[in-house]
Amino acid sequence: MPGFEHWGEAEKKELADVISSGVLMRYGFEGQRGGHWKARQFEKEISEYTGSPHVHLTSSGTAALETALSALGVGYGDEVILPVFTFVAGFEAICRVGAIPVFADIDETLTLSPPAVEAAITGRTKVIMPVHMCGGMAQMQELLHLSEKYDIPLLEDACQSVGGSYRGRKLGTLGAVGTYSFDFVKTVTAGEGGAILCSSEAIYKKCDAYSDHGHDHLGADRGSDHHPWPGTNFRISELHAAVGLAQFRRLEEFLELQQKNYLSIEEALMKVPGISFRKLPDPAGNCFSFLSWMLPSEKDAVRVISKLRSMNKAAGHFYWYENSWHYLRNWNHLKEGQFLSALPPATTDSILENARRSFPVSDQIMGRCISTAIRLSWNPEEIDQVIADLTRALE
Ligand SMILES: *Cc1c(COP(=O)(O)O)cnc(C)c1O
Repeated sequence: MPGFEHWGEAEKKELADVISSGVLMRYGFEGQRGGHWKARQFEKEISEYTGSPHVHLTSSGTAALETALSALGVGYGDEVILPVFTFVAGFEAICRVGAIPVFADIDETLTLSPPAVEAAITGRTKVIMPVHMCGGMAQMQELLHLSEKYDIPLLEDACQSVGGSYRGRKLGTLGAVGTYSFDFVKTVTAGEGGAILCSSEAIYKKCDAYSDHGHDHLGADRGSDHHPWPGTNFRISELHAAVGLAQFRRLEEFLELQQKNYLSIEEALMKVPGISFRKLPDPAGNCFSFLSWMLPSEKDAVRVISKLRSMNKAAGHFYWYENSWHYLRNWNHLKEGQFLSALPPATTDSILENARRSFPVSDQIMGRCISTAIRLSWNPEEIDQVIADLTRALE
């Protein structure tokens, strides 16, 4: 899965350029920086790789989501539809702009169920947020159709699926806006960092400004430009951008390794009767960071996970159903509303009402699903060991 497994000369070289000039900020200081613009270069290379006309880096994927929501004009009273299986960041970003997260069921793709999205649309829905979980992809054709039918933009959270694609187009470039994360456990890492991808220049300009106190970056050294909007500080530093740039150049190498390791484990699990796999809307666009597989029942999944734990081999096998970060069912902190006090009471009430709904259709899927994180650094003996452990736990 993660770039953190590969730290090498390329990353050190890009960092050394920044350290030797001492210009750690992405804007200005032109005279001192010795021609090094790591953030700018990183944005250019993401744009070339993905075909997205506009790319803007931020300090994290979470910051990218909040920035994108703001640029899409999402605010108080608006609703944003998101899946029950996601990372809490999407939920947090929606609350941060004062909007209401409206959860919708997933299906066996582990991403948004299009009919559930359609049922959740109201007159207040401002954005639909598909989340490309676990290296796979959402059902983009159906979601793009809904987006057009109801005139509601898609914000693709592609934080976990950098390098993945749908019918030949990179994830994050199909909706109005897409986001990437380069945190320490993502496919490529910058230490911390995120990116926003969009085709609209107007949205790009808002993202660029929002993430740097509203500066429009049209003048020299941020001194003579305008700052027409209030924003915040979600800037990426040159240090982070330098690492991210070096790692991003290795993305294809990482994806190839992941694919090889993923296929070995998949092949072994395919031989076990009763196991099925997460459905991929476009198998050719998989980025192989997790192998997600399903047992016939929740009872079976609990038994397998408990067995792995008793063997001390559960690390790397995620049973999201019990997890309090990615599956709504266990987000007890937000169901109790403890960190929502800064929002108006009516918004808080709506958020809590949504968060406390139950989702038996999704429970039925997540309760049976285990995701195995695919490491880049496994050698053939280690892969054999993972397969042997799984085989034992499945006996
Ligand atoms: C990691 C992640 C984020 C947030 O990214 P950070 O860079 O850690 O802030 C958002 N959404 C999903 C689906 C993620 O996996």
